[in-house]
Amino acid sequence: MARIGIIGAGISGLTLAFLLQNKGHSVTVFERSVQPGGALRTTRTADGWSAEWGPNTIIESSGRIKSLISMLDLEDRRVYPDDLAKKRYIVRNGRMIAVPGSLAELIRTPLLSRSAKMRILREPFRGRGNSTDETLADFVRRRLGEEFLKWPIDALVGGIYAGNPELLSLRHAFPRLALLEEQHGSLIWGQLRGGIRQPAGSDEIPRNKAAIFSFDDGLQVLPEAITRKLGDAVVTNVWPTEISTPEISTTDIRNPANTSDGRSARWQLSFRENHKKGADLTTRSFDVLIYSGTAYGLNDIKLPDSLSKEIRAVTEIPHPPVTSLTLGFRRDDVAHPLDGFGVLVPGVEGFSVLGTLFTSSLFPDRAPDSGHVTLTTYLGGTRQPEIAGKDEDEQEQLVTGALDRLLGLRGKPRFRHRVHWPKAIPQFQTGHQQFLDRINRAESEHPGFYMSGNYRTGISVGDTINAAFDLADRIHHKHQD
Ligand SMILES: Cc1cc2nc3c(=O)[nH]c(=O)nc-3n(C[C@H](O)[C@H](O)[C@H](O)COP(=O)(O)OP(=O)(O)OC[C@H]3O[C@@H](n4cnc5c(N)ncnc54)[C@H](O)[C@@H]3O)c2cc1C
Repeated sequence: MARIGIIGAGISGLTLAFLLQNKGHSVTVFERSVQPGGALRTTRTADGWSAEWGPNTIIESSGRIKSLISMLDLEDRRVYPDDLAKKRYIVRNGRMIAVPGSLAELIRTPLLSRSAKMRILREPFRGRGNSTDETLADFVRRRLGEEFLKWPIDALVGGIYAGNPELLSLRHAFPRLALLEEQHGSLIWGQLRGGIRQPAGSDEIPRNKAAIFSFDDGLQVLPEAITRKLGDAVVTNVWPTEISTPEISTTDIRNPANTSDGRSARWQLSFRENHKKGADLTTRSFDVLIYSGTAYGLNDIKLPDSLSKEIRAVTEIPHPPVTSLTLGFRRDDVAHPLDGFGVLVPGVEGFSVLGTLFTSSLFPDRAPDSGHVTLTTYLGGTRQPEIAGKDEDEQEQLVTGALDRLLGLRGKPRFRHRVHWPKAIPQFQTGHQQFLDRINRAESEHPGFYMSGNYRTGISVGDTINAAFDLADRIHHKHQD
């Protein structure tokens, strides 16, 4: 079995570590912050308020996610939102409008004009595109029209990627839409015929049937549970400085049999005991080294030239800033019934927020009691990066201004929790394939070196868990002797 070093204890690195340890490998995870979990972190106050730092929910998009929860004995702690919270709103003409859930609702909705609805009904008769790397915006314009792009799609992209549909690549950022067109020639026909055809043996659950969930004490429960299982194998507050392959030349790396001990290529990781410059430097050797840190975090690690030549470029993947601001109010101070998941705001509406989750409608324990509510608002993104950088009081004013227009506020917030993410979410823009090609090449030319993380396999927590299962199988298969 292999000695495996993993850099980064986000959900990608932790899940990989847990799965590989379960397969019998000796694993050590090196995390530079003081707390494992990356974007999954929850704050709870003594007086009963609670807020997530990053994601609020996970989509149960595969059987692998269910089995991770069961391997961690977390089934009893998983919580699903009330069915009422399924309703989603989008802003049009300054008003919140429920997203239609059926053809009858689509025909009646004021979210789209009559001509936009007619355009949607003609979608099955549009031909396929011929671009190999089309932007999401061009794809939607081509199949569904400009209005559908400007309102529902722009709102959705702000909510998922904090991104811009004019820049995102259809096949990388929304691969399922690309597949629907490829397999069925139409999004509408594709949905009516049961969606994307999955390869045999796939455990994927179609997005429209997959549940979303959290845990009784928030999403942090998940990294905490994995960290507990891993025990001493997770070291925090250590700063990796260099990855090296000291005993072997580049030629040897490509032919692992040539290494001094006849095993796979040997990797070394040097790290400082904490973030201070003068801190002690330690070096550990591994048969397998996995980089599971953020794409931009690679900038802080010296790499062998041959590896650097390929993967240094991933640090250029854009990550716009986002601020997550959770405010708590007295229930009576919010006029709207908050009967849903939340509201998304298209850029064309001119608000200074991307959208707001009705967090205590999803999970009532986010507020101290039924007389209070929490609302989590996201600001910034590719659309308005300057707003993410404003100070906390200014942001609160912007958010309460927007919430007042949308939900009718009568009182001041009783609770405030803000997290600023200077580099929040990787943007899979057109040209993203070059980063994936580089990573694939780096792995095939450097046996024993692997990369995992949201910038490679998809930004949702579910995507990163699914990818960790696949990579753990691949690594185990290659390095079990
Ligand atoms: C505000 C926000 C809201 C989101 N909402 C949702 C949502 O509702 N649903 C959803 O599914 N997803 C959501 N996401 C996305 C999702 O949370 C992330 O894509 C996912 O958690 C990424 O996991 P990861 O392990 O790949 O990376 P990360 O969580 O970024 O973890 C990487 C870890 O590596 C460490 N690290 C980085 N560089 C180094 C280094 N050089 N050395 C050592 N350690 C290093 C970091 O400190 C970090 O702990 C959201 C993200 C954000 C920021």
